[in-house]
Amino acid sequence: MRVAIFGGGYAGVNVARRLERSLSSDDELLVVDESGTHVVRHLLHRAIRRPEGLGDLTLTLDDLFDRATVREARVTDLDAETGVATLADGETIEYDVGAVCIGSEPAFYGLDGVAEHAITLHRPGDPQAVRTSFLDALADGGRTVIGGGGLTGVQVAGELAALAAERGGADRLDLRLLEQADAVPPGYDDRLQSAVQDALAGTGVTVETGVTITGASADRIQVAGGDPVEYDCLVWTGGIAGASALGDERPDVRATLRLGDRTFALGDAVRVIDADGRVVPATAQAATGQASVAAANLSTLLEHRRSGGGDFEPRLDRYRHDDAGWTISVGDEAVAKVGPKVLTGAAAAGVKTLVGAEYLSRIGAAREALKHVGDAIAEE
Ligand SMILES: Cc1cc2nc3c(=O)[nH]c(=O)nc-3n(C[C@H](O)[C@H](O)[C@H](O)COP(=O)(O)OP(=O)(O)OC[C@H]3O[C@@H](n4cnc5c(N)ncnc54)[C@H](O)[C@@H]3O)c2cc1C
Repeated sequence: MRVAIFGGGYAGVNVARRLERSLSSDDELLVVDESGTHVVRHLLHRAIRRPEGLGDLTLTLDDLFDRATVREARVTDLDAETGVATLADGETIEYDVGAVCIGSEPAFYGLDGVAEHAITLHRPGDPQAVRTSFLDALADGGRTVIGGGGLTGVQVAGELAALAAERGGADRLDLRLLEQADAVPPGYDDRLQSAVQDALAGTGVTVETGVTITGASADRIQVAGGDPVEYDCLVWTGGIAGASALGDERPDVRATLRLGDRTFALGDAVRVIDADGRVVPATAQAATGQASVAAANLSTLLEHRRSGGGDFEPRLDRYRHDDAGWTISVGDEAVAKVGPKVLTGAAAAGVKTLVGAEYLSRIGAAREALKHVGDAIAEE
């Protein structure tokens, strides 16, 4: 029988690696990814300041698997009930059971001109584009604006401020982080927010909250109820939207991660509601946690189908989100939340080091990559 995993990010790689250990050797395990690589996306902001580390954040999928077959192709449509995926060239792939792990796209909320004029931080080429545009602006004494003060926006701000300092340009830095909510990063507890704001305070980043961006032209941003803001470099980190193969939506899935009769879905691609009824944040940490539930449920469903199905639905595992904590880098500083504690300084940086190294070794990334990431990606 054929098990198909669509997408080779945090969710897809971790599901496939688990299935490699548990599937019968007669079953085919297929991973379909449009890039053929696993991007260590949660460290992408680090490559703005350390472009030499980018190669180590882009791992060839074939190297991560022992028996899964990797197919480099873009899925354009998927029928979760009948188990048929359509690829960009029109070919279809039929599967017995499958998992949708195709991640998300940057969200622009239909804001006029933002997609056209802003740089996002989503794909491997993006850190270099941000770096070039920022350094050009810095050289001319220009202004950089980051739209969106979530995890990504804060971490990008920290990297850009540190890059300016390394270039001796701290006194020329005009870097504004604009956020619609009343604190950054929005949605996190007060102590974490104030620790992040303290970390940003010494860097020269100007944080402006309660600012709603409504559009952008080539050199200015429109904001609700205020004067336009001129800019030279504009980075958009305003959130995520569903992938086009899922109709630009992030469909809801409940705790079993079941999207359809033959299909599960996890990671950023969907909005997961866990066993306690909570909406799970779209993070790498959550995607890898969901992978073990998805792998177990794929095996259960496969056995159910192999035995002819029958009237009863198989009993499926349920995902319960365990917020193991947070680490947010702000340049060379870090803020970590571990259980009820908020850590800053060296203690937080130590947590960041463990997170990066532990993740890479868990997915089987080469020792060499780990070494370089350790060097180039500093305290992650
Ligand atoms: C700068 C930045 C910093 C972040 N920091 C953190 C952090 O500190 N901690 C944290 O937990 N999270 C962080 N995140 C969020 C985290 O990276 C995402 O939540 C995570 O990548 C989601 O994993 P995923 O497997 O669902 O999707 P992805 O990692 O995006 O993987 C999706 C995969 O699907 C493939 N794909 C997409 N579309 C198709 C298609 N149509 N057909 C075939 N293949 C397709 C892609 O090539 C990709 O390999 C950060 C994100 C960014 C951008």
